[in-house]
Amino acid sequence: MKPAAFEYIAPVTVEEALEALGGSGKDARVLGGGQSLVPMMNFRLAQPELLIDLNRISELAGIAIREDGVVRIGAMTRHRTVELSPEIRECLPLLHEAMPYIAHVQIRNRGTIGGSLAHADPAAEWPALCFALDATIVARSSSGSREIPATEFPLGILTTALEPDEIIAEVLFPHQPAGRRYGFQEISRRRGDFALTGVACTLDLNADGVVDASRIAIFGVDDIPLLSAEAVDALTGNTMTDVLAREAGRAAAAAINPRSDLHASSEYRTQLIETLVYRALKQAAGADLLKDVA
Ligand SMILES: Cc1cc2nc3c(=O)[nH]c(=O)nc-3n(C[C@H](O)[C@H](O)[C@H](O)COP(=O)(O)OP(=O)(O)OC[C@H]3O[C@@H](n4cnc5c(N)ncnc54)[C@H](O)[C@@H]3O)c2cc1C
Repeated sequence: MKPAAFEYIAPVTVEEALEALGGSGKDARVLGGGQSLVPMMNFRLAQPELLIDLNRISELAGIAIREDGVVRIGAMTRHRTVELSPEIRECLPLLHEAMPYIAHVQIRNRGTIGGSLAHADPAAEWPALCFALDATIVARSSSGSREIPATEFPLGILTTALEPDEIIAEVLFPHQPAGRRYGFQEISRRRGDFALTGVACTLDLNADGVVDASRIAIFGVDDIPLLSAEAVDALTGNTMTDVLAREAGRAAAAAINPRSDLHASSEYRTQLIETLVYRALKQAAGADLLKDVA
């Protein structure tokens, strides 16, 4: 299939891109890595009149760590850049762990964090990772910029809080305390496919192995990622054991009524939630901390 005819521009500054997006009077879309938009255009599911290519805007790409420990990832930063970044491995190991689950290396070489968040596929890894790490999305338009908590960004399947004249400029990840632990688990039919269900979690344990805090994001089960308050309630204040991790998995699964679709039934996804929450917590805690494991 070939896309419908469209105009194409490739600005080199954010200002130029925003002016074209907000002021052209045309049905305009921005182009990130093109790994979702181009197939949609080829299938004519998207038929923008004007395509604004962000790939030449260098200020939109890159990873920087601010003095306050906040990690800033520019919207045009590729999944593969995040995967290979020593700074990310050090400061945000959850992202390092999760990147290889996104598609295949060829797609990760092109696809971007901004494109993935704006596309808002319910089974995509980035939105859930941003939920788990309590990230903030910085949107820009010609009239200024605003910060949107990641948990308020996806509104539904392929729908976000972005206004038509806004782009994602960058994503901010708060400083993660030393000693925080992480788990990432997903099941897909084949390596590189979108997840049937996935879990990204953070876990803070005190010196006695008691859970001080955790965040558990579950994706692929609803229109947007979910944070499981039930699993967190089951964990908080209790000693981290294998039994407790299983209890948290059951608590998460009991509170969610997952979607059924061509790929998996609701019942199967319920089982996946229970198992993947358990596995993610076990991964985060580390086998040595699960004192009741034989
Ligand atoms: C075979 C295959 C398998 C895949 N598997 C996975 C997977 O397992 N997990 C996963 O998460 N993804 C997967 N993807 C999607 C991939 O990760 C894409 O990179 C991602 O969804 C979109 O990012 P992109 O940069 O390519 O965006 P594009 O395709 O360029 O754009 C996607 C949408 O986002 C908008 N957009 C892009 N950048 C911005 C911005 N800065 N501000 C505002 N809007 C913007 C575009 O206008 C468009 O609407 C897969 C893709 C393919 C082709």
